[in-house]
Amino acid sequence: MTVTTRFAPSPTGSLHVGNVRTALHNWLWARRHGGRFLLRIDDTDLERSKEEYVDAIRADLAWLGLDVNGEERQSARFALYEGEFEKLKAAGRVYACYETPEELDIRRKILLSRGLPPVYERKPEGAPVPVGVAPHWRFKLDHDAPIEWTDMVRGPQHFEPKTMSDPVVRRADGSWLYLLPSVIDDIAMGITHVVRGEDHVSNTAAQIQMFEALGAKPPAFAHEALLVGTEGKLSKRLGSLGMASLRDEGIEPIAIVALLARLGTSDPVEPVTMPAPLIESIDFARFGRAPARFDEAELALLNQKILHHTDYEAVADRLPAAITEARWNAIRPNLMTVAEAAGWVPVFDGPFDPPPAGESDRAVLDAAAAAAPNIDWTNDPWHVLTGAVKDATGAKGRALFLPLRRALTGRDHGPDMAELLPLVAKSEVVARLSAA
Ligand code: GLU
Repeated sequence: MTVTTRFAPSPTGSLHVGNVRTALHNWLWARRHGGRFLLRIDDTDLERSKEEYVDAIRADLAWLGLDVNGEERQSARFALYEGEFEKLKAAGRVYACYETPEELDIRRKILLSRGLPPVYERKPEGAPVPVGVAPHWRFKLDHDAPIEWTDMVRGPQHFEPKTMSDPVVRRADGSWLYLLPSVIDDIAMGITHVVRGEDHVSNTAAQIQMFEALGAKPPAFAHEALLVGTEGKLSKRLGSLGMASLRDEGIEPIAIVALLARLGTSDPVEPVTMPAPLIESIDFARFGRAPARFDEAELALLNQKILHHTDYEAVADRLPAAITEARWNAIRPNLMTVAEAAGWVPVFDGPFDPPPAGESDRAVLDAAAAAAPNIDWTNDPWHVLTGAVKDATGAKGRALFLPLRRALTGRDHGPDMAELLPLVAKSEVVARLSAA
């Protein structure tokens, strides 16, 4: 049995961090087992589904590195649904209903006012059927078969079908609701594991009976706790936080993957540069039941940590030509984003406009300007330069290093000067020191 998972977004909007997390866990699980990860576009709602969102979903998955082993679209599969629906109808597992939304609403209110659960009441066998009204269709739950499964995240689950409403599976205009096509597809595509948010738990209960009614063994289920913002609820910001805006902020896809893979699990979030360790370690038993908290500040920090040991080859195509491998290695501990690397080009090659030096730094800068022209640039110029300045002025520590760092980089903080200085041309350094 090849492990097969699917990510099944409805293309009615762009992906946000919440559904990317679901996609990622499906992908990690498939990759861990050498299995297949499918993208299933749930576009039964032809009105609200948009091609531009399908394209954006593909692009986001590719950017994140979540490669798919196949893509399916529900809108191309209506004939299959029709056939399975007819079988269920013949078997008495779907039945026609004629209530209007208003009638259903009144029934609900009556039940609630009596303190009863608002469960749909089936019409008795042989009840009159209105003429000239197109029915909608419900799936008939088997009231005598308690529904049970062991959820990979939530453990043993138990539902009493008597307490559940028969779910509507098809509208009067013939269009499909989500529940039944999803089951038909999960069977047809050989899905072995369904990984999705815990908001689907009660859908799963009904769907398990649909799998059985269609003669299939239900897949394994993992329902993950929801993702919430730092305020502890599903914020508007989180619900709309898309990959494009994170990319624009300079967040690397691997940072998103590294955070979302582990958030809400008992494994620590780690600054990995490759998904391999995340694939090896995914384990739904280590997923928590409490909502996972997503914090953009944590993501930015993780992004920064990851950049600190990201190899040149991984980012070279996004760097200015002036940032060579040695220069990248020197500056990466100081970067929040790859784009910031461009800001270091003038520090290496000019044009360079140093901040005015303070009077107290004069002696150090003059000694450095005098010493620099005679230094062999191939042999640890920073230590030779600072040694000469120290000998000439007696300055040491911060009073020695900070004026030089400022005069040479224009900044108070930055890469190790011993690593940086050989990467700046000697003539540049001499010019900067004599101008200081
Ligand atoms: N289209 C459904 C959704 O986005 C899919 C749920 C599922 O994974 O079965 O909620």
